[in-house]
Amino acid sequence: MGQKHRIYITRKIDEQFLVPLADIADISMWESKSEPVPREILIEKAQEVDALFTVLSDKIDEEVLAAGPSLKIVANLAVGFDNIDLTAAKKHDVIVTNTPDVLSETTADLTWALLMATARRIVEASDYLRAGKWQDWSPFLLAGTDVYQKKIGIVGMGRIGSAVAKRAKGFDMDIMYHNRSRNQAAEEAYGAAYVSFDELIETADYIVSLVPLTNETAEIFNEAAFAKMKSSAIFVNVSRGAVVDETALYNALKNKTIAAAGLDVFAKEPLPLDHPFLKLDNAVLIPHIGSASIETRTTMIELCLQNIANVLTGKEALTEVKG
Ligand code: NAP
Repeated sequence: MGQKHRIYITRKIDEQFLVPLADIADISMWESKSEPVPREILIEKAQEVDALFTVLSDKIDEEVLAAGPSLKIVANLAVGFDNIDLTAAKKHDVIVTNTPDVLSETTADLTWALLMATARRIVEASDYLRAGKWQDWSPFLLAGTDVYQKKIGIVGMGRIGSAVAKRAKGFDMDIMYHNRSRNQAAEEAYGAAYVSFDELIETADYIVSLVPLTNETAEIFNEAAFAKMKSSAIFVNVSRGAVVDETALYNALKNKTIAAAGLDVFAKEPLPLDHPFLKLDNAVLIPHIGSASIETRTTMIELCLQNIANVLTGKEALTEVKG
């Protein structure tokens, strides 16, 4: 048998996942479950290995992709791939894979939980009880906003957006969406209406961002967009933080230009503890846990490793990102 392939994993994962690859590869990994791999170690490893297993906080740019002559695949543990320079990957003949589909339902569940938590002030209510403030019942104590039969506008009606629309249909909601192109399947299955970005933000009660981060979508939710939303609107972002101008969102929430926001993602992650969002009562903030169910994270890890095994043994990747 020839020399074994070399794989580097940028976060610690359980050894049990590596068993199927043990015969074909020597695998090493960054030993922290929470700390990101330092940049210099990432580059050093990229020089040595045939495959990198990466996460969304690893910036895979020209410098990393040009580092080593044997690098064949970067398998990203996410459906989003805005952390990877696809042009540089192509230039260096490196295949990039992501984890589409397997996380759509789980991420839609989280989107729905965040939307509901924001509408019904669940976090604020829990904090209120724990702080010993619950002295009496009163008619409007912690009263939130209805979800059922309201208008939802989904920006990015793709795999996850469609799974969110499915949930919205169950809540008897009026569903609108905006993409660059129409999604006939979502229109037929969920009665979703295709509208312009402006119509969506001006008329929706719930505005949900599930659009990938690209040059076109960076800060599409800016001051002008928040100004067009209804003062009762609730904004939910489960895509990427950088699709939002966070200063504009902070001002919109503080000045009650919009009613509330539920945010799973931020321009800078982890969210710094001195970030102004933390001062707001009308923002529900969670640490990028969209696809974080045990079942789905397990499947995502297995898919990344299968993509690596395929490419290293001359087969086609299961989920290659075509740039
Ligand atoms: P997808 O199936 O590719 O859907 C993306 C949708 O966005 C498509 O319908 C696309 O339609 C639309 N879109 C793309 N560019 C657009 C633009 N410039 N203007 C308007 N619409 C645009 O992707 P997905 O699997 O649903 O994932 C969506 C995103 O969710 C990912 O990219 C990732 O950033 C995020 N995500 C976050 C988490 C989390 O943990 N928070 C988990 C999973 C995914 P057109 O091409 O027709 O425009």
